[in-house]
Amino acid sequence: MTGDHSAMPFSMPSRRVLLGLVGASVAAGLTACTPGEGAESTTTALTPDAAVGSPEVPAAPGAPTATPTATKRIRRSFIPDYQLPPIVGGLAPVITKIPTKHPIVFLTIDDGNIKTPESVTLMAEYDYPASLFLTKNTIADNPAFFNAFKAQGSLVENHTVTHNINMVRQWGYQQQLNDIVGMQEYAVQQYGRKPTLFRPPGGAYSNAMRQAVAAAGLKAVVTWEAKANAGKMDYQVGDSLRPGDIVLMHFRAEFAADLAAFRAAQLAAGLEVVLLEDFLGVA
Ligand SMILES: [Zn+2]
Repeated sequence: MTGDHSAMPFSMPSRRVLLGLVGASVAAGLTACTPGEGAESTTTALTPDAAVGSPEVPAAPGAPTATPTATKRIRRSFIPDYQLPPIVGGLAPVITKIPTKHPIVFLTIDDGNIKTPESVTLMAEYDYPASLFLTKNTIADNPAFFNAFKAQGSLVENHTVTHNINMVRQWGYQQQLNDIVGMQEYAVQQYGRKPTLFRPPGGAYSNAMRQAVAAAGLKAVVTWEAKANAGKMDYQVGDSLRPGDIVLMHFRAEFAADLAAFRAAQLAAGLEVVLLEDFLGVA
């Protein structure tokens, strides 16, 4: 694999290039030339069939029984310049932001309590793909609601069954594992795809949790660097979005205001919203 990237054509370093269909195999081949050293870290690979400016392909709303792979839109994306760390010693890696040179940002939306048609409409209008970290007990009254986001290109990920924000302190390994596996199984049952990413309720994690996450078949624990909350942006670092930031939102009553705050920040920073799973090659 180490020689794969040498055959890839590169653009001028300052050029932004939107890509068409980026396969995981291509991404895996390119990650060998990453961790940013010298000029190579700013290059962007081109694909021959880059679908720059091509018309959006609408999702198929009339095919609710189709398989997820058939309905999932393959999003435009940048070829990753970051490789997800592997599971080492049984511990899933923890990601707070992605160190990337690309002008991209990742949107994640949690829980699933408030389900409004408006949120579906807004996400479609802005054409945002997002990682949806859903909790079984908050979506069980209407899990089908989230199919609309799935049809837009978003993916359902794991945010446990019970959303116990004290699970790290209160529970041992096995009970944490049960709460995580329960959501894995529910997601497969409801959405036909096994989640690859995990978000801890409340954000706290431990080695026991990381071990349970890996044992459940998940690839990473995903926290966040910034959040849209109460109609404004909150940053852990600085006062604007930066490339590679992972942004947290929630399915709350303030969804429209939160998304507007995120959109303003995203546009001001000149970043494109890219699906985290696509970038990591774990879609
Ligand atoms: Zn949550």
